[in-house]
Amino acid sequence: MPPFGDRTMVRETAGYMFAGGIALLLCAAAPAQAGGTVWTPRVAVDIGHTESAPGAMSARGRSELSFNRELALQLVGALQARGLQTVLVNADGRIASLQARPQAAAAAAADFFVSIHHDSVSEHELLPWRWAGNEQFYSDRWAGHSLFVSRENPDTARSVLCARTMGARLQRMGFEPTHKNGRRRPYADYQHAVHYFDRLAVLRHASMPGVLFEAGVIRHRAEELLLADPLRQARMADALATAIAACLLAGQPARDEAAADAYGGPETASDARLPED
Ligand SMILES: [Zn+2]
Repeated sequence: MPPFGDRTMVRETAGYMFAGGIALLLCAAAPAQAGGTVWTPRVAVDIGHTESAPGAMSARGRSELSFNRELALQLVGALQARGLQTVLVNADGRIASLQARPQAAAAAAADFFVSIHHDSVSEHELLPWRWAGNEQFYSDRWAGHSLFVSRENPDTARSVLCARTMGARLQRMGFEPTHKNGRRRPYADYQHAVHYFDRLAVLRHASMPGVLFEAGVIRHRAEELLLADPLRQARMADALATAIAACLLAGQPARDEAAADAYGGPETASDARLPED
């Protein structure tokens, strides 16, 4: 049956307001298990790159993999703090292939896949400098985060929605996006720096919606220091977790009638307080 049944507008409006309140609660705290029927999303958090191919190098000579691992672990903690289930992919940095990443997420029955990366610049944009006695290479031209989705993913719509939500929440918390990747990748959402990157293996081989997140440009000397700061990492993880929870939980009907009825049905205590009762 429909969650609010055959009611007057007053009752329907009250019901939706109540449902909206619940959605906010779900974002802010662990979803209560109402008779075991509340859907708890499971999020796969993928640590981009491997020990043998550690990705980009920072302005101070640190590997992208090490940045990815720190932020991914913070994100797992932030998601769990909201009551979501998590799966950490490539925890040891030795995953066999790009395809193995979404496969690990599918094997764990993940509902959403997010791959954590840090951005770099093209070789020709790099300049030399010395840090800790060694020659390193940097570019201070670009800084900021960006997001990527694939139209070859089976759920592009949900992928874009989650990426936009992540971008919006990040900006709300003061993080600034980069449009450096707009030079090569078309926009799914300009304002939130969400790009299409259809051939990204980790997204196109995923069986669930997915987003690749570039947290910032580690070749940028000042941004590298921000990206290495554990407190800032925690704030960024908090933004991402809030957005992922909102994208997966809010604005979406409960996936089963029992859960919908538990929140919006006539048996709930709040219904007894409606004016016409
Ligand atoms: Zn990367």
